[in-house]
Formats: sequence, structure tokens, C-alpha cells
Amino acid sequence: MKRSAIIPESRIEILNDAEVNREGKYVLYLMQRAHRSEQNFALEYAVKLANQHSCPLLVAFGYDPEFPDANDRHLDFMLGGLQKTAQALRRRNIGFIFRTESPLKFAAGLSEEAAEMVVDKGYLRYHRSLYHGLCRRLTTRLTQVETDSVVPHSLVSDKQEYAARTIRPKVMKQLDDHLVWLDTTSVNIAFQLDHLPTDDIQRVRDSLRFSDIHSVTEFFPEGTAAARSRFDDFLKNELAEYDKLRNQPHDPRLSHMSPYLHFGQISPLYLLLRMRELWDRKSKNTESFTEELAVRRSLSQNFCLHQREYDSFECLPGWAKESLNKHKDDEREQIYTRKQLENGETNDPYWNAAQQEMVLTGYMHNHMRMYWGKRILGWCNTPEYAYQTTLYLNNKYFLDGRDPNSFANVAWLFGLHDQGWKERPVYGKVRIMTQGGLKRKTDPEAYRKKVEQMSR
Ligand SMILES: Cc1cc2nc3c(=O)[nH]c(=O)nc-3n(C[C@H](O)[C@H](O)[C@H](O)COP(=O)(O)OP(=O)(O)OC[C@H]3O[C@@H](n4cnc5c(N)ncnc54)[C@H](O)[C@@H]3O)c2cc1C
Repeated sequence: MKRSAIIPESRIEILNDAEVNREGKYVLYLMQRAHRSEQNFALEYAVKLANQHSCPLLVAFGYDPEFPDANDRHLDFMLGGLQKTAQALRRRNIGFIFRTESPLKFAAGLSEEAAEMVVDKGYLRYHRSLYHGLCRRLTTRLTQVETDSVVPHSLVSDKQEYAARTIRPKVMKQLDDHLVWLDTTSVNIAFQLDHLPTDDIQRVRDSLRFSDIHSVTEFFPEGTAAARSRFDDFLKNELAEYDKLRNQPHDPRLSHMSPYLHFGQISPLYLLLRMRELWDRKSKNTESFTEELAVRRSLSQNFCLHQREYDSFECLPGWAKESLNKHKDDEREQIYTRKQLENGETNDPYWNAAQQEMVLTGYMHNHMRMYWGKRILGWCNTPEYAYQTTLYLNNKYFLDGRDPNSFANVAWLFGLHDQGWKERPVYGKVRIMTQGGLKRKTDPEAYRKKVEQMSR
């Protein structure tokens, strides 16, 4: 496998036209998305800039207590990961500073002494508006580096793609060119400016109250090393049956990488390179995993980059909205309140088990996520309310929630990236999933028993 320390131009974008500050005391990298010290293009780019300016590198994280939909479950995992990343950065002679403050204010303040500043590309509104705000306030150069996609989006597409079939060839034809290990660059000048006050991450972590949601680090230990080790287990013990068994909720062969990918604790490119290192031949299993990680994940990011309304019913394709609205007043087999759904109190034991898995572990099997979401559509009195309820539950309980994958996949339940099917009550032309279908394709009773066992 090839190695290189070069950061491809296609990952780099200068966001403002300010000059660099030749008097700057450090280069600043605001690490808001890619919380890792390895295989991180934004970090290595910032190291190179620091070496060019003959100054140290400072990595900063602004912990925003107002971050949309964040709760103590998410924060616990994220803060634990950041603690480990901070230690790893210090081992590389890179400074790390953490502050409970709006990242905009925090970074703008730090930028006054910076030679220039780097951010990592995010795909959601929050990061876009943060960087937009920074552009207006900064008097030094701001560069964005894309590090959380396999193939950079600037090379994939400049518009919203219709479906996996339209984005797949665009990703796949460039994939091999991007399968290159990123070599680290040594830091020439160690960070030693200790006049910058930093908050104690452990203290913030200790202050979490977990009032209506518990921590799930028992199921998902946080940090890059934990992700690497779990992924190696998957490659050694499970990938051989990924294609055959990935859709079997009672006995799945899955990587469980989504929480780590969401918080940037692991690089998607690392996962593909590591897979190719241990599995040198292509197979149905490696192709199927590549499809999920490189194609489907890219489709979700593409959706959030190009669709402003990515978190609302409005984002759906015209045919789906029209058809769902036509059937808006159809009689529902059953209506449940949001609370009943949250408590897993429906008449469907398999759905309740899926909800329980999500509440208990912060994760749910992919096939059950599809079934879970499709049923909610049938149990709410309007499709808009079903949409908001599904997003609410998804983003509250999943450790990988609030991700481009969350928004694209919830929208998929309602017709995004799909086609029209045979028209039915309530669902209109939107694809339906029934308990009968679940029983034909999987063993939901074994899944229910497994979740019951886990919750004892
Ligand atoms: C209703 C619904 C809601 C979902 N909500 C989320 C969410 O909040 N966050 C989230 O990350 N994923 C979400 N998904 C997508 C998918 O279910 C998860 O990414 C996957 O189950 C994570 O488990 P894994 O890492 O073990 O997957 P693996 O099968 O091991 O796949 C490896 C990686 O490929 C990517 N991937 C897998 N399936 C998909 C997919 N359908 N779309 C895009 N990328 C995919 C993920 O990054 C995943 O970590 C949702 C799917 C549905 C149907």
C-alpha cells in the first residue's frame, strides 16, 4: 500500500482572503470534527504550516454547551475521546487547549496571536455557519481541510445526487487513487506557551449528570485506540461473513465503527487501508464493506452538503411528499405518542426490542433501524410528525446520531434516494417494511431474546 506525507490539493480550501500573520506565535488548528491525532489530513497540514512559519502548533477545541441536540451520552463519549487525543498530541509536541466556550468566540480570540488557522471540514449546518462566522472575524488566513471522507467531495460531485447508483461510479472510479497511508510530519518546534488557560476536560466530564440518559461507554469504549482494536477484531473474526450475515440482527457481523466515525475518532480511510492490509484479495465481503463506508456514507455527506433542509420533511423528493400528503388522512392501524414510542410500548415485540437496544446501548442494527423507522411512519398521525419523532429518537439515543448518516437515512425512510413503489394506505408510494417481511428475511424472535438478555 502506498504512503505519502502530501496533503492532496483536492482536500484543501482557503476560506477567506486575509493575509497570514508573519508575527504569529503559533499555527492554530480548531479541531471541531476530526478528534484524532493520526490519519488526519487537517492536522498534518497544520503541522506543515507550523514548520514553514518556524512556530509551534496549537490545537484547540471549543466545547459548546449549546451544540444542537447534544446530551450527556454523546458528551461523555466525546470528552473521553478528546482526553486521549490531547495526550497523543502532546506526545507529538503539539499543544492542546480546551475551553467551555462558543468555538467561534474562543477561536476568534486565539486567532489574534496565530500565524494562520486551519479547520476540518464538516458536512452539517453547524460547522458551515461556524466557519462562515470565523471568516467574518478573522484577520488571518483560514484554511479548511477535508479529512473525514474517503474520496474528497470536491472530486465527487458538485450537486445533490439522486441515489447510490448515481454517486457510486463517481466515488469508485477515484477510490484507488486515494488509498494512500498518510505519513506523519515531525513537529520542528515544540509547543511551550503556557500562558493560555485551558479548562480541565475531566472536570467537565465529571460534571455530567446523565439525568434522563445513561453513558454507553461500557458498550463503546471511547477513543482511537479502542476503535482500532475493535476494528481489528472485526477484520479477523467477522469480515469473512459480512456480506452474508450483515443483515441478520440476531447474529450480525458488523464493524460498529459508526460512533467512532461520527466523532472523528477514527479515519474512514484508515478503515479501508487496514482492511486491505489484512485482506489483500478483493471479495464480496470487502466490496460490500467498501460500498457502505465509501459509497453510502459519501451519499449521506453529499445530501447534507447540498440540501439546506436536510433535517426537515421539506427535503424529500417531490413524488414522496406528494404521495405521503395524499395519504395523510388515511386511517392508521395504531397511533402511539412519542413517549410510548420512547418507552418501547407498542404492540410489536420486535420493534420494542429495537428501541430497547437503542436506549440501552446507543446503537441499533442497520436492518432493525430500517424496520424501526418505517413502522414509526405508520404509527404517527401525520408524516411530518413521524419524521420529526424519528429524528428526535435517532439523535437522542444513538451515539452515532446527529451525523450526515442520521439525516440521510431518516429521510430515506420517507423516500429519499429511493423510488416509488406500489401505492398503499398511509405510506403512499413510499417503501414499506412489515413484520411479515422481517420474519421472512431475519430471525426477529432470536433478536428479541438477545436484546432481552443484554438488558438483564
Ligand atoms: C433509519 C436509519 C437511521 C440511521 N441512523 C444513523 C445514524 O444516526 N448514524 C449513522 O452513522 N448511521 C445511521 N444509519 C446508517 C447505518 O444503519 C449505520 O451507519 C450502521 O448501522 C452503523 O453500524 P456499523 O458501523 O456496525 O456498520 P457497518 O455495516 O460495519 O458499516 C461500516 C460503516 O459504513 C457506513 N454505513 C453503513 N451503513 C450505512 C448506511 N445505510 N448509510 C450510510 N453509511 C452507512 C457507516 O459509517 C458505518 O459505520 C441509519 C440507518 C437507518 C436505516
